[in-house]
Amino acid sequence: MKSEPIHILGAGLSGLSAAIILSKNGYDVHVHEIRSDSGARFDGDFQGLENWTGSKDFFDEMREWGLDPDSFKSDAFSVVDLIHPDDEITQPITDGVAFRVVERGTDEHCIDQGFKRMAIEAGATIHYRSKRKPEECQIIAAGPKDSSAVAFGEIFHTDHPNHVSFQLNDKLAPGAYSYLIVIDGIGLICTCLWRKQKKSGRYLNETIAWYESHYELNRRPIKRVGGKGDFSLPDKYYHDGRYYVGEAGGLQDFMWGFGMRYAITSGVLAAKSILGEGDYESEVRKNLVPLIKISATNRFLMNRIGDNGFKMVARYWMRDQRKKGDGLEFMRWVYTPGIFRRMLWPVTKLAMLRRKKLADGRMVTRMPFRKSLRRDSWEESDRALEISEQWKIVKKSGGAVSFPDSDV
Ligand SMILES: Cc1cc2nc3c(=O)[nH]c(=O)nc-3n(C[C@H](O)[C@H](O)[C@H](O)COP(=O)(O)OP(=O)(O)OC[C@H]3O[C@@H](n4cnc5c(N)ncnc54)[C@H](O)[C@@H]3O)c2cc1C
Repeated sequence: MKSEPIHILGAGLSGLSAAIILSKNGYDVHVHEIRSDSGARFDGDFQGLENWTGSKDFFDEMREWGLDPDSFKSDAFSVVDLIHPDDEITQPITDGVAFRVVERGTDEHCIDQGFKRMAIEAGATIHYRSKRKPEECQIIAAGPKDSSAVAFGEIFHTDHPNHVSFQLNDKLAPGAYSYLIVIDGIGLICTCLWRKQKKSGRYLNETIAWYESHYELNRRPIKRVGGKGDFSLPDKYYHDGRYYVGEAGGLQDFMWGFGMRYAITSGVLAAKSILGEGDYESEVRKNLVPLIKISATNRFLMNRIGDNGFKMVARYWMRDQRKKGDGLEFMRWVYTPGIFRRMLWPVTKLAMLRRKKLADGRMVTRMPFRKSLRRDSWEESDRALEISEQWKIVKKSGGAVSFPDSDV
């Protein structure tokens, strides 16, 4: 055992990744988690583990780091229904794995529990319901602090076969997108709000109404889930003797909110840095920051467009697929900036991001939650109102909500 113990704040994906690598290398690792279990921040939500920001399949990369992707359930997808703002549905498709759906939460098959088991097997001690000062930890992995955007979803029983749809629609998901994921008889319909709204529940109800009218779901609601994302670029990732990993380090995708890959990768990079294999600050700047910067510029461009722009993106994506014979190439291109998007970075920074000093002394350039626009106010459809009433009944009879938002 190495002499000095390592304390990690947060037993989510980033903290546990670091814990696994360090414990395997003989460190006495203590992970302090404020909640009662890993994954308790989420509650059975499906999330997509993307496979387009790296040159390797992410599961192969995990194996090279000594992380076992078979320690949790995942379902690989090579095709998705892309729903254009005018309701046209097309299908980006690839030969390999475009993304994998994993479940977040405290059930045994969830990714969080897989990482927890790996950490314990490697020898780490996890202290749940534990409060520890950040100043007493070497790795800060405590997830998002502020909100730049939120996502709300409903989990339900369904007869629909396994499936993923991704919808670009500025009305149902202001500034962002909604999605439907079905895995083994359980469905999730989620809408992401990249503009702050007062009655956010109506966006979810209307989104559910939309999916119900386009897919044979036979939906029986179970619970509602959701959470926030914090999109920021700090000046430093290693500060005052501490490594900031995952969303606590602002390592999150500004464009779609796909933060799990960054969380795991940054946890590994911090551990490797402690092991003397590379310098965390420069590795993050080399491997992750360029992706995050381009995702911010993409987000800046997306913020400027409404449904007409979303339609153009969807059309371009399908044209690109016809030309190259692979729908994933578009997503790779999105994260590989040419000169035009690289030149836009100073404009993105100036127009979309704001400087803020954090309590720990770090300066960050973050994306504030944008205000709602006039077009975000509209009359709910009759079906959305019925869905809202249906949810009230389910909630009264015990349907859980995994985030503190009374109106969803
Ligand atoms: C609704 C929703 C949908 C999402 N969908 C996707 C998706 O499809 N694909 C994707 O890649 N990403 C998605 N994300 C983002 C992804 O969940 C995060 O980027 C990722 O979990 C970040 O990992 P992390 O380790 O930084 O934080 P987490 O996994 O959240 O872990 C942080 C941990 O720290 C704990 N903690 C917090 N404060 C303290 C404290 N003071 N002391 C001790 N412990 C503390 C928390 O309880 C938590 O367990 C989604 C996020 C949300 C909210």
